[in-house]
Formats: sequence, C-alpha cells, structure tokens
Amino acid sequence: MRGDYAFERFHGEPPLSVIRSRSLDLSGWGRFPVEKCDAYRPESVEEIRELIRVAPSESLISRGMGRSYGDASLNSGRGVILHERLNRILSFDPETGLLHCEASVTLAEIIDVFLPQGFFPAVTPGSKNISLGGAIAADVHGKNHHRDGTISGQVLGFHVLTGEGELVSCSRSENSRLFWATLGGMGLTGAVVDVRLKLRRVDSSYLKTQTIRTTDLQETLDEIILRDRDYDYSVAWIDCLARKKSLGRALLLRANPASPSELPSFERESPYSIRRKLPLTVPFSMPSFFLNSGNMKAFNSCFYWWPRRTEALRDFESYFYPLDAISNWNRVYGQKGVLQYQLVLPLESSSQGLREILERVAESGWASFLGVLKSTGPESGGLLSFPFEGTSLALDFPNRHDSIFAFLRELDRLVIHYGGRTYLAKDSSLTPSAFRTMYPAYEDFLEVKAEVDPNGRFSSSLSRRIGLTE
Ligand SMILES: Cc1cc2nc3c(=O)[nH]c(=O)nc-3n(C[C@H](O)[C@H](O)[C@H](O)COP(=O)(O)OP(=O)(O)OC[C@H]3O[C@@H](n4cnc5c(N)ncnc54)[C@H](O)[C@@H]3O)c2cc1C
Repeated sequence: MRGDYAFERFHGEPPLSVIRSRSLDLSGWGRFPVEKCDAYRPESVEEIRELIRVAPSESLISRGMGRSYGDASLNSGRGVILHERLNRILSFDPETGLLHCEASVTLAEIIDVFLPQGFFPAVTPGSKNISLGGAIAADVHGKNHHRDGTISGQVLGFHVLTGEGELVSCSRSENSRLFWATLGGMGLTGAVVDVRLKLRRVDSSYLKTQTIRTTDLQETLDEIILRDRDYDYSVAWIDCLARKKSLGRALLLRANPASPSELPSFERESPYSIRRKLPLTVPFSMPSFFLNSGNMKAFNSCFYWWPRRTEALRDFESYFYPLDAISNWNRVYGQKGVLQYQLVLPLESSSQGLREILERVAESGWASFLGVLKSTGPESGGLLSFPFEGTSLALDFPNRHDSIFAFLRELDRLVIHYGGRTYLAKDSSLTPSAFRTMYPAYEDFLEVKAEVDPNGRFSSSLSRRIGLTE
C-alpha cells in the first residue's frame, strides 16, 4: 500500500514553500465515495508545517493507511496530507514496553518488529494495516474493549501540528483538552506527528480460543454481556439475515492469551513464530449480481453451520485479523463499494434496540455479510470517541442503489431512539442533525478546535458532511 502515489516536487528556493500536490482520486476502504483531492506527501514535520502555512488548498486533512471506510480521510477538491513518509520507529524500552514512533508507523510494522521480542499492541482493531495516527484519530477499539477500553488507555502522549503550525505536546497532564479532542477527533485538531504508546507483554503469538454457537438474539446477548468478562477478547459473528426464531443467532469467538506451556511441543521452542499462510487475493471487483440476497443468505448460513472445534489454539493473525489474510477483499462488494454501519447501544436498550434493527435489516433486502456484535466497556475521555458501555453492531451494506441512504437514515433514527450512536470512522451517510444528537460533546470539541485552529485549516469531507466544520 505504501508508495502507491507517484509524486512530484519542485526543487527550488526556498524548497519547502513550493511543495506541489498531485490530484488523486481517493477513497476509504469502503471504496465509496471516491473523491478528487490534492494529495501532498511531506517528508518531515517541517514540511507538514510548511504545508499548513502555504499550501494553496482551502483546507487540509491527514491520511494514514486509508482504512477508515467512508470519507474521514478525504477532502474533496482540497488538500490531503499523506503521512506515509513519516514512519520511523524512534525508540523502544524493553523494560516498560514504551514505544516512541512517528505517526505513520502501522500496527503491522509494530507487530513485525516487537512480537518476536514479546510485545503486542494492547488494543487492536480488526485490521493491522492501520497507522498509529489513524488509530488515535478514531480512538480505535478492539475485541477487548469490554476489558481494556480504547487505544487511548495505552497512549501516553503525542505531538500535534495544529492549524496554526504550532507543534503541541499532548498527554493526560499536558494540554489535556487537546489530548482528548484529538483522540477520536478524526484528524480535525491537526496532524499527529509522533506517538508514545505502551505495548503489552505477551508470552506467545497464540491464543486459546473458544467457539460457541447461539440460537437467537437473547442467548447471544446473555452470553456476551454475562460471560465476556471471563475472556480477554470476544467477538460474535452474527447471521444478520436470519429471521423469526433464529434472529440474532451467532458464532461467538472468545480468547485468552496462550502461554508457551500450552502450545504443542514443536512450537514451544519459538513461541513467537507463526506459520506463514498462502497469500490470497480478490483479483477484481465482483459483479453486482454476486451479492444477491440468495447468495448472502447461503453464505451467512454456511458460516454459521460450518463445523468448528469448540476449543482451539489460534495464532494472532487468524484470530485478530481474518480479513487481512485476503488482500483487496473490499473488492468483493463490487465497483460501487460498500457502506459500513457500526452502531453502539446502551446496555439497557440493547436487547430491544438490536432486535428491531436486526429485524429491519433482515426484512429490508439490503443483503449483508455477517455482522459483528461485541460488548463494549466504559467510555474513554475522547470528546468524539465512539464506544460507550453497551453493545456494538457492525454491518456491511453493498452500495447497489441510492435508496440505501434512505434506509441508513431509518437506521439512524432507530439508533437515536435507543440512545445510541454510529462510528465516524466507518461512516459515509450521517447527517448534521443526527451527528449532533449522537455526539453531544461536539460543542466542547468545537471549542478546543477553535482555540488551536481558529482559521479552520483542518477539515475533511466527513467534517463538512456532518456539519462539524464549513
Ligand atoms: C477490516 C477493518 C476492520 C476494522 N476494525 C475496526 C475495529 O475493530 N475497531 C475500530 O475501532 N476500527 C476498526 N476499523 C477502522 C480503522 O481502525 C480506523 O478507521 C482507523 O482510523 C484507520 O486508520 P488509518 O491509518 O487507515 O487512517 P485513515 O483511514 O487514513 O484515516 C482515518 C482518520 O484518521 C485521521 N488521521 C490519519 N492519520 C492521521 C495523523 N497522522 N494525524 C491526524 N489524523 C490522522 C484521518 O484524518 C481520518 O480522519 C477497521 C477497518 C478495517 C478496514
């Protein structure tokens, strides 16, 4: 993914003030929307500062690995800062697990370098191909949110280059309002240039997993709400096309880290190695008829009924990142891409709210692959962070027809009715009024933004669509 963009620079006097952009068609991971943006690829913090000062684009937004689904890292007709050249690891303390690196370092790179030394990211989303800058901007969560919260819990501090070109050091004790506005702030407080993050010590690359099948929504919820606390990691793959008595049936995959003594004897010598798998790829965009509701139903049912061992050892790749094993898997949704929709509901309304939402999804004909259901723990302090205590459901809707937007609006109304919100890192459709209702701390966020970026130098297609910036 790195180095995809051909790039031009003038070499003149003074060199930094003549950085040029290249017009690129960019999209997020959902491949919708696709927008023409002025892409800049700075090579140093000083160059980003200079970009902020002189780039002719009306506004700028940072882009990491482009793994957010919608338009969070897009800036239609305006500037996008590609951070990929700022990806150096700066220091690591093996005593404490404290890592200091530039913000474009990815979780995949961290794992490659530090897992052999016995360290792993304490919080990781379902793809390791994301940058630390993107992880902070979305305040990402993983399969252990019910125990460990978002990545904010492991972040000791970072530097942000604000819209005024000021390099500000942020932590819980230093510029803490900017710290909590930037965590989850979708890149709108400025460009994060480096991060100090605590890695978790692990004894092997393996997890002891348990897989169980539930028969309906109530059983699924009982299991995840009451029993997830016995496991470090937990996720439920839900058959989102099952109806009536089977509504909400799911496969629960829970896991705890494995110690070397729990590995087969031939793995104990090198507990951090894993066997390489055959690289798989989706070679082209699938034709739209592939995603008809009959195929989707068959896929969901097969996944649910496929025979599996209840207890198994799995390596971290297959447990945390099953989709990363297939490169370009987002092409499966066809040329027009996919809209992902992730919501969280409070505990008290989860049962009724999820039932109504799943019923609407199943009867709507908006075919979707398996949904992902999780229990979530307490909120982080991020002003625009997504998860709070309750349950979260993520659904994929192939973008087959414009009427999907009316359907998503209907889901928004249900989510609001049940006291929930949707995730900005996955969003492509939220309206300003729905956003304001879902994220009541947006006014506090705007106060901090006005202090560090009074001229609105940072904005994105997402921030304008949801009415957060002009
Ligand atoms: C298969 C898959 C599974 C996923 N699973 C999860 C999950 O389980 N939990 C979860 O929380 N998320 C999940 N995500 C979403 C993903 O973790 C977030 O969207 C993350 O922000 C992507 O990081 P990125 O580097 O690709 O950022 P981009 O997509 O490039 O950008 C995302 C946001 O970060 C901002 N940003 C990027 N770099 C910087 C920087 N240096 N400074 C300031 N702002 C910056 C951008 O402006 C944008 O607003 C998943 C995504 C995929 C594709």
